[in-house]
Amino acid sequence: MKTFLVRTFGCQMNKHDSERVTGMLLSEGMTPVDDPAHADVVVFMTCCVRENADIRLLGQVASLKSVKAARPGQLIAVGGCIGQRDGAALLGQLKHVDVVFGTHNIARLPALLESAHTAKRPVAETLDAGDDSTFDLPLEREHPWHAWVPITVGCDNFCSYCIVPHVRGRERSRPFEEIVSECERLVAEGVVSVTLLGQNVNSYGRDLYGAPRFAEVLRAVAATGVGRVMFATSHPKDLSDDTIAAMAETPQVARYLHLPVQSGSDRILAAMNRRYTKDHYLDLVERLYAAIPDIALSTDIIVGYPGESEDDFAETMDVVERARFDQAFTFIFSPREGTPAAALTDTVPRDVAQQRFDALVDAVQRSVVAKNVALLGTVQDVLFEGVSKRDETMLSGRTAGNKVVHVALPDGPSASDFAGRFFRVHIDEAQTWFLGGYIVSGE
Ligand code: SF4
Repeated sequence: MKTFLVRTFGCQMNKHDSERVTGMLLSEGMTPVDDPAHADVVVFMTCCVRENADIRLLGQVASLKSVKAARPGQLIAVGGCIGQRDGAALLGQLKHVDVVFGTHNIARLPALLESAHTAKRPVAETLDAGDDSTFDLPLEREHPWHAWVPITVGCDNFCSYCIVPHVRGRERSRPFEEIVSECERLVAEGVVSVTLLGQNVNSYGRDLYGAPRFAEVLRAVAATGVGRVMFATSHPKDLSDDTIAAMAETPQVARYLHLPVQSGSDRILAAMNRRYTKDHYLDLVERLYAAIPDIALSTDIIVGYPGESEDDFAETMDVVERARFDQAFTFIFSPREGTPAAALTDTVPRDVAQQRFDALVDAVQRSVVAKNVALLGTVQDVLFEGVSKRDETMLSGRTAGNKVVHVALPDGPSASDFAGRFFRVHIDEAQTWFLGGYIVSGE
């Protein structure tokens, strides 16, 4: 086993887990490749939050059948949330898969690969409880200047539609000192941007210290000298005044908050077990805009939750209107086996859900454009990531509000000279999905 390829589906936690998988395989002496036809090991880090991710995974693994036939000895491993959920059953479903592992035993991947390779037999292993030693695994970051830093793993909230607590386990916080010292080490290594990760970062520390300490984490991580601190995800029921204050008073903390609302209807929010109301959510939004006037807000919205009426949907549209989102990830409800919502029978007809979805997407786009147009003529702090994926003559970066900015690559330096560096950029173009501008000054 000399070469490997890791394919990642789903959330930022999975991206982080993939960096650990990559780090482990590199430390085994293996070399990464881009083409599965050249890989001795292909690892899929999977997501089961939405039905689409399940379908895509099955399609991608199935498409490797002929690749594997042409490369005898190739091992295919499926890990992450689908591995955790389905375990050994996956081996029956996908006969050419060799290794299945879960969310709690990533560290075991090299041993499981070795076992499947030596015994020439597929192997599946999942654990029920969290193995927090994964925080100490070797890691290969996608960008040397950015790091994902998990502060909690798992979730205690059990939203009725969500599979995450069932595949990631109960919420476990990392010790405060461990997070801060990791960030200090990262800054010393040249990292300029960190993203603090947790299913609900706002409840960070409740299990360890009896009360949430997320605002303290924000202040302490910002004090390490890192240039930008992002975080995800925030649960509206746990977003505190202290966290809003920490965001407002700490310039290193991004002017961006992902605050999933899911629905604007109190009836549907209660059915989803979200434990806040529309008024509470909108009150948070107003407090955020008052404390941080230039904050960019993004959200998640599900339409067509079982029992959702036209009136319920109108409440969701009202939230979109009033919250003035900069971005929204919108979904039509899809039942996830094993969750309470999957057993509900008063489903919304597909064509009705689709109509609501289309109306929602239109409303979100209007909001996004209005927010982007409002940035015309402003100067933004942009952290460049490298060359634009669509146009090699353009640099791509992100504002403190997490908006993508494209800037013409100046004559002389290459795109990599800009990656991981902050510049002041004058914004002179506002599109739906990106801004355009020009550099006015350096770091
Ligand atoms: S807060 Fe709710 S939606 Fe988010 S991971 Fe936990 S259970 Fe899932």
